[in-house]
Amino acid sequence: MVDVIQIGSGPYDSNIFLVRGSDTNILIDCGSGSYSSRVEGSIRRNLGEADLDAIVLTHEHFDHFGGAVHLMRAFDSSLHGSPECARTLREGDPVRTGSFLFGARMDPILDVKDIGDDLKIGGLSFDVRSTPGHAPGLICLIERSEGCMFCGDLVFCDGGVGRWDLPGGDLELLRDSIERALEWEISSLYPGHGRTETRDPKGQIELARRMLAMY
Ligand SMILES: [Zn+2]
Repeated sequence: MVDVIQIGSGPYDSNIFLVRGSDTNILIDCGSGSYSSRVEGSIRRNLGEADLDAIVLTHEHFDHFGGAVHLMRAFDSSLHGSPECARTLREGDPVRTGSFLFGARMDPILDVKDIGDDLKIGGLSFDVRSTPGHAPGLICLIERSEGCMFCGDLVFCDGGVGRWDLPGGDLELLRDSIERALEWEISSLYPGHGRTETRDPKGQIELARRMLAMY
């Protein structure tokens, strides 16, 4: 049994999801860090006595990882991202992370662990799929027991797709990533912004594909 709880944040932040397994809790994305104490408080209320075992990033954009250092320290959690995402964070690249868009200072984050095709943390297990186009390091994480997919800024509900005009973006790669995502067995969709979908996740990806076909 896996429980996904959306943690409230603020404007311009990514969605933040607390994924609770029977004995393991992880956070997917962190928001920009502008609302760190609110985010930390909400995670603590939801965890109760339990620990936060790890923080996983869907990609290397500031609105998704800016809060990571605060939360790693607050919960003594490890931080994980795709090799491309981890490299960009270690380099502290203000362009590829988009931190310059937020007027934020980008300090390198050295303590990021690389994720392969497979991510196991305690009792939680994910298929990891590389889906570049919005950002080179973007991954989709599919939780294996129930098929919940966390897709970062690949697609959004109601016909949205991630921007491809930011540094490292690529329209053709985005098209290809969305086409591949249509083939995957999933039960629900948790995008990096906006609402989530638990009834017809493939319908939402198909809507995004049709939206992108206009470009
Ligand atoms: Zn992004």
